[in-house]
Amino acid sequence: MNSETVADDSPEVVVIGSGLGGLCAAYELSKKGIRVLVLERHNLPGGFSTSFVRGRFEFETSLHELGGASAYEYLKNDDFQLEFKKVPEAYRLLLTENGTDFLAPFGIKEFSDAIIKAVPGSEGPVKDFMKVCEESFNAFTYLGDNSPPDPRLLFKKYGNFIRTGAAVTDEVADAVKLPQAARDLIYPYWCYLGVATDKVSFSLWASMIYSYLNFGAYIPKGRSHAFSVSFARAITEAGGEIRYNAEVSKLNTAEGRVNGVTLNSGETINCPHIVSNVSPHHVFGNLIDPAQVPSKAYKMVNARKPGFSFFVVFLGLDADRETLGLTDYSYFIAPHMDTTRLVESLKNRHDPNPMQATICLNAADESASPQGTTILSITAGTDPKAWEDIDPWDYPRAKEEFADLLIRQFEKATGTEIRSHIEEIETASPETFSRYTAAWDGTVYGYEPAPWDGIIPRVLADNKERFFKGLQFCGGNASRTYGFGSSMLSGKTAAEKTIAEMNS
Ligand SMILES: Cc1cc2nc3c(=O)[nH]c(=O)nc-3n(C[C@H](O)[C@H](O)[C@H](O)COP(=O)(O)OP(=O)(O)OC[C@H]3O[C@@H](n4cnc5c(N)ncnc54)[C@H](O)[C@@H]3O)c2cc1C
Repeated sequence: MNSETVADDSPEVVVIGSGLGGLCAAYELSKKGIRVLVLERHNLPGGFSTSFVRGRFEFETSLHELGGASAYEYLKNDDFQLEFKKVPEAYRLLLTENGTDFLAPFGIKEFSDAIIKAVPGSEGPVKDFMKVCEESFNAFTYLGDNSPPDPRLLFKKYGNFIRTGAAVTDEVADAVKLPQAARDLIYPYWCYLGVATDKVSFSLWASMIYSYLNFGAYIPKGRSHAFSVSFARAITEAGGEIRYNAEVSKLNTAEGRVNGVTLNSGETINCPHIVSNVSPHHVFGNLIDPAQVPSKAYKMVNARKPGFSFFVVFLGLDADRETLGLTDYSYFIAPHMDTTRLVESLKNRHDPNPMQATICLNAADESASPQGTTILSITAGTDPKAWEDIDPWDYPRAKEEFADLLIRQFEKATGTEIRSHIEEIETASPETFSRYTAAWDGTVYGYEPAPWDGIIPRVLADNKERFFKGLQFCGGNASRTYGFGSSMLSGKTAAEKTIAEMNS
C-alpha cells in the first residue's frame, strides 16, 4: 500500500482507543485491505458507546438519541446489521418555575407550529429563526460534500451562513426578534452541546437542532453497545485486529513523525501511521516525550476548553411505564431555560434545581426490559470540578445525595411516583466516566465549540494543527466535535487522511 518499510505482518496503522471514532477509522482502513491494529485499554470496544447489566436490566450507558441523517445512513450499512427504533417525539419540556409543560414534535413544520401555537405572535420570528438554521444545516452539508468549497457559491447561496459564521445563538435570536417565551421552548437542546446560548457557535447549534428536528432520532436495538460490537465484528472480518486490555502508555516519535507506540506491558509496536481516538490533551500531555512536543501543540491544547461532564442515575423499575405514568421518551426538566444560569449551576452539585435530561427507553423500544418493567435514566450535566473536593470515603454518599435530588426533581415535575418501584439503581459521575474510558478529567464532551473554535475554524486550522507526520485524531475531541454521529464520522475522515498520507 505504501512505500515505507514495514514487516509483512506488522500493522500499517495503529488506532489508539476503540471509541466510535477509533472503531470507524479502523473499519474504513481495514475495509480497504490496510493492516490495522486497534489498541484498547478496556476489555470491551466502544468507550462511551456501550451498555452494562444489573439484575435483569441491560442499561444504556450514554445514548439518548442518534440524530441526523448522515450517521444513521452510515450505520444502516449491511456490514453492521443493526435494527433501529424511532424516538417518538423531540422532547417534553417541563420548566418548574413557570409551569411550562410543552411536548415538542419532530418535523420542522410540526415543531414550528407547536411553538407558534404556544407563543402567540411569534410566527414571523420563529419561521425566520428556523430558516437561518436550515441554511446553516444546508451549508454544512455542502461543505461536507465539496472539498475545497467554491467561496463564490458559498456567499451566493448561503449568505446567512457566512453572516452568522462568527455569531452566537442569542445574537441570531436577537436579530430575528425571537420572543423569550419561544426561546424557552426552542433552547432545551443546548444541553446536547453543553455551552450556553450566549457562548455557543450559532452555525453548529443551528445545524444540530435542524438535523434533529428535520430528520428525527433513533436508538439501536441492543443499546449503543450494538454499534460497537458491529464495528468490532466488521473490522476483524475485514482482517483488522483489536487488542483489549492494551493500554498505550507512550506514543513514540522521532524527527517530527510518529513511529510507534509502547504499551503498559512494555511491549513496543512499530508503526508509521497512528490514529488517536484519545484526546490531544492526553497525547501531547502524557503520551509523547515532552522534549519532542512543539510548544505550539501545548498552546493549542491549552487554548481549548474541555467541555462538561454528566451525572447519570440508571433505574430499573418493577412496573411497566403505563402503570408508572411515564408517557414520554425524552424529558427535559429545568427550573427555567436561562442557559447561562443553567451552565453556572453545573459547577455546584448541591444546586437544588439543576437541569436534567431523562429518557425512558421503553417508550422507544417496548422490549428494552423484561415485560412489566421499565428502564429510566436521569442525566444531569455537571462540571468535573464539582466532584474534586470529595473525600474518597464520602464519594458513595455524594453520589447517593445527587441521585436522590434528581429522582425527587423528576417525580415532582412529572407528578409520577417511581421511588417505590426501584428494583435496580446505579449511578455514574465524571469519576466513573474517567475510570472506564480514561476521559480527560472525566470530561464527556470534547472541547467546547465556542465560535472561535467551532467546526469551521477547526476544519480550516486542521493542517496547521498537524504537529507530527503520520498522526491523525478522531473522536469527540477532533474537528467535527462530539456526539455519537460526529465522533464516529470523524473516524472516517481520519482514515481518509491517513490513506492520503500513505499514498503521498
Ligand atoms: C451519559 C452520556 C450521554 C450521552 N448522550 C449522547 C447522545 O444522546 N447523543 C450523542 O450524540 N452523544 C451522546 N453522548 C456523547 C457520546 O457518547 C460521545 O461523544 C462519543 O461516544 C465519543 O466517542 P469517541 O470516539 O470520542 O470515543 P470515547 O467514547 O471517548 O472512547 C475512547 C476510547 O479510548 C480508550 N482509551 C483511552 N485511553 C487509551 C489508551 N491510552 N490506550 C488505549 N485505549 C485508550 C478508552 O478506553 C475508550 O474506549 C453521551 C455521552 C455520555 C457519557
